Amino acid sequence: MYVRPKKHLGQHFLKDKSIAARIVELLSGHGGYRYVLELGPGTGVLTEFLVQREEHELFLIEVDKESIVYLKGHYPALKEKIIEGDFLKLSLDSLLNQPFALIGNFPYNISSQIFFKVLDYRDQVPEIVCMLQKEVAQRIASPPGNRDYGILSVLLQAYFDIEYKFSVPPNVFQPPPKVQSGVIRLRRNNVAKLDCNEVLFRQIVKAGFNQRRKMLRNALKPLDPPPELIEDSILDKRAEQLSVADFVSLTQRMEAGRNG
Ligand code: SAH
Repeated sequence: MYVRPKKHLGQHFLKDKSIAARIVELLSGHGGYRYVLELGPGTGVLTEFLVQREEHELFLIEVDKESIVYLKGHYPALKEKIIEGDFLKLSLDSLLNQPFALIGNFPYNISSQIFFKVLDYRDQVPEIVCMLQKEVAQRIASPPGNRDYGILSVLLQAYFDIEYKFSVPPNVFQPPPKVQSGVIRLRRNNVAKLDCNEVLFRQIVKAGFNQRRKMLRNALKPLDPPPELIEDSILDKRAEQLSVADFVSLTQRMEAGRNG
């Protein structure tokens, strides 16, 4: 049986089993989870290695009906573990109600949305191993001070330790994507809550990077910085120059001005 690759679902099936094995090996058990959720198993190239890990209980979520039929045929034992649906619409806490690792060769067209969802559920997801478009993977793992560093880098690095693991060329996929791919691992850090108003933190990060070439003084104008902060030299900087800790301290001072 054959699954016809569907572009609108971001389907590029990995053909190289040794790369699949290397990706699955990156699951380290960090945080002590039992459940593993595979996002977008497709024709099961990662699944084949995931089922060998007896220490874990595997669940799969796949939106493509044709892939689901294929998976049920190849992995009858997993029949009850395959969730048919859209990851972005899934209520993860009612589904698993326990910490779980997330793994997958993500559909590249929705990878940012996947990560915003992961951020919402960050206390339930101690580890994520995934393949993405290489630029996006690099951006997420990027340190401050360069052009790759952006909104998702800051928001994810606030709660996860992130490692760029390896790159994957297009020719090991069917069909080959137009872009290079990269594999990253994210592991939840021990920050339960940032030392500032987290809603305001997110607003500041977004506003700063939405006009990333401007000084923060201008980029943050819509958020109305308090007068005592306007003259501060931190606002001479651009968003990409600030570490997570810098954004936390900036948020504290924005807030202090508002409450005072
Ligand atoms: N893991 C497979 C397939 C990767 S392609 C491999 O490595 O070969 C991405 C997969 O994600 C496809 O199977 C696609 O159908 C699935 N997918 C796309 N959007 C999805 C969504 N919103 N929720 C769940 N799965 C999705």
